[in-house]
Amino acid sequence: MAAAVLSAFPKKIYAEEVSTPIVLSTWNFGLKANEVAWDVLSKNGKSIDAVENGVKLVEADPSERSVGYGGRPDRDGFVTLDACIMDHDQNIGSVAYLQHIMHPISVARAVMEKTPHVMLVGDGALQFALKEGFKKENLLTAESEKEWKEWLKTSNYKPIVNIENHDTIGMIALDMHGNLSGACTTSGMAFKMHGRVGDSPIIGAGLFVDNEIGAATATGHGEEVIRIAGCHLVVELMRQGRTPEEACREAVERVFKKQQKRASEIQVGFIALNKAGQYGSYCLQKGFSYAVHNNRGNRLIEADSRIK
Ligand code: ASP
Repeated sequence: MAAAVLSAFPKKIYAEEVSTPIVLSTWNFGLKANEVAWDVLSKNGKSIDAVENGVKLVEADPSERSVGYGGRPDRDGFVTLDACIMDHDQNIGSVAYLQHIMHPISVARAVMEKTPHVMLVGDGALQFALKEGFKKENLLTAESEKEWKEWLKTSNYKPIVNIENHDTIGMIALDMHGNLSGACTTSGMAFKMHGRVGDSPIIGAGLFVDNEIGAATATGHGEEVIRIAGCHLVVELMRQGRTPEEACREAVERVFKKQQKRASEIQVGFIALNKAGQYGSYCLQKGFSYAVHNNRGNRLIEADSRIK
């Protein structure tokens, strides 16, 4: 890391040994997604390609029931997907409430690169995707349909903390060129209201990148992340000198303070990476892990939590 860049940070931020390139992603499936991203980063590739390719692996995996193909449907039985992507140059692209397309992250990237806009939703996003050559597919697998039919018997919407009826893959990376990017993709909360959109496609909530400072992404109850403009907050706190973990902790603390009465019923987790390659995380409830891949290998780390 260039001395000029490091000198922009308070000493405590870069005092630990840092190693670049580096990629971080949410939850256990982050481990396999990191391997794909690492393949790009270790060959001197761009962080934007690393994060797109990394999360695509999870989108295409029907056994991962909270992202992409095989994702759990909404309460009316529709699989509706949210995703966004952001690069080092403040380019952004996002899709929300998108149906029938296996790789919403790539549609988000196409929005970023090929349109004058930053966000497309619903049918407009689908029409754009089809025009761009994406294939229309049925994303509702037999397993997810079975679970939905079971849920219909009670129709009780109560997202459970850390049980995988939600969970987003959010990925942030710093490449050998010193550039940060991030990607975030999900099928959202299982059995949500038809038309519900969470934090994941909203730049500043589910994802934010500022190439001068750092990047952050989020998982958990999207409504709570949106309420505090979570990832923008985390990056701004790093700008003010917090380490990535301190910044994530302060954002979680804000959710906790404002939602104290229901804090035991919600989960929010952030991961963050600064320009110097230092990383950290924090969550509201115990049970959130994230994967980190750098020159020292790929590993899963359990995040510290506000509620023990
Ligand atoms: N944040 C996602 C949403 O609210 C779900 C999750 O990450 O658990 O749609």
